[in-house]
Amino acid sequence: MKILVINSGSSSIKYKLFLMPQHRLVSKGLIEHIGEKGSQIQDHYSGLQLILKKVDGVSAVGHRVVHGAEEFRKPVIIDNHVIRKIRQCCQLAPLHNPANLTGILACKKLLPGVKQVAVFDTAFHQTIPDYAHIYGLPYQYYKKFGIRKYGFHGTSHEYVAHEAAKKLKKPLNKLKIITCHLGNGCSIAAVDKGKSVDTSMGFTPLEGLVMGTRCGDIDPALVTYIMHKAKLGIPEVENLLNKASGLRGISGISNDMRFLQEKQEKGNSRAKLAIDIFTYRIRKYIGAYSAAMSGCDAVVFTAGIGEHQEKIREKICRNLFIYFKKAPKILVIPTEEELMIARQAYKLISE
Ligand code: ADP
Repeated sequence: MKILVINSGSSSIKYKLFLMPQHRLVSKGLIEHIGEKGSQIQDHYSGLQLILKKVDGVSAVGHRVVHGAEEFRKPVIIDNHVIRKIRQCCQLAPLHNPANLTGILACKKLLPGVKQVAVFDTAFHQTIPDYAHIYGLPYQYYKKFGIRKYGFHGTSHEYVAHEAAKKLKKPLNKLKIITCHLGNGCSIAAVDKGKSVDTSMGFTPLEGLVMGTRCGDIDPALVTYIMHKAKLGIPEVENLLNKASGLRGISGISNDMRFLQEKQEKGNSRAKLAIDIFTYRIRKYIGAYSAAMSGCDAVVFTAGIGEHQEKIREKICRNLFIYFKKAPKILVIPTEEELMIARQAYKLISE
């Protein structure tokens, strides 16, 4: 059975076609510049038409959906009710969910009768207990506006935690695993017996680790202080925290870790500082999550930096576990979010 996995962004659609249950990648591709000036691809509908010319025999489609709020704790088969609910989640992820929805609607039109499954980035973290997902704000803000930690990269954390258990040859429900997804966006999760019990991203992906261009945890009072001092409005400060901070903002050079490593080796002190801050924050979270789970059997590194940058992994882990009775295993596992979506879609439609 062939399962098409769609990751529909605001101006692009990434796809992968898998043969299931063999988990074999049959083809993949990317359609870019959708709806942009001068582009021949006017909308997602035309983009998907192009994709469907390249793939055949699709039995089901798995869609990556960024935000499922508290509504979606696991993947679901998409019907009109689900579409309405995903639309309601748009206010929580205004940059992502509308684009994901556009892909779903185009697929529904172009592949009538083919089952569509939504797999949510937030769903894996819905097991995080209330004491870890409620902020120290008035409780009614949670009730009224849904303000709480949601977490993201859930599909990646879940996938690598499963793969880690396979590598360790132990059942997942006997393991305490810390998964570090270190790409351009970075997040870390505490996975206890296969369930996410905490994660570093929050209400939005801005919280937690220092990332390529996002600041991660800061004193919340800084937001208004910066607005006042630097005379910035709301969009400008949002842009500052999301796009001009993190590795890029600290180094003043780049958000690309490869480039920063090179610069550091040539003696650039700001590149070094950016790397020091980046790795220190991750160490703190690993320590915190080991405490939260009362132990840790394995730390998993994944995504661009996690998979490819040995020196960064070493810097994070150096002497980190000297107080542990038994040091956790350090694993590097390439993330396969699309394969995980295909697996989940396959499982759901085969039930
Ligand atoms: P995204 O989160 O956008 O998918 P990636 O997972 O590709 O991004 O991560 C981007 C980061 O990973 C960059 O800082 C980059 O330097 C680093 N990176 C990606 N691929 C490699 C590689 N092959 N070798 C070293 N570093 C890499």
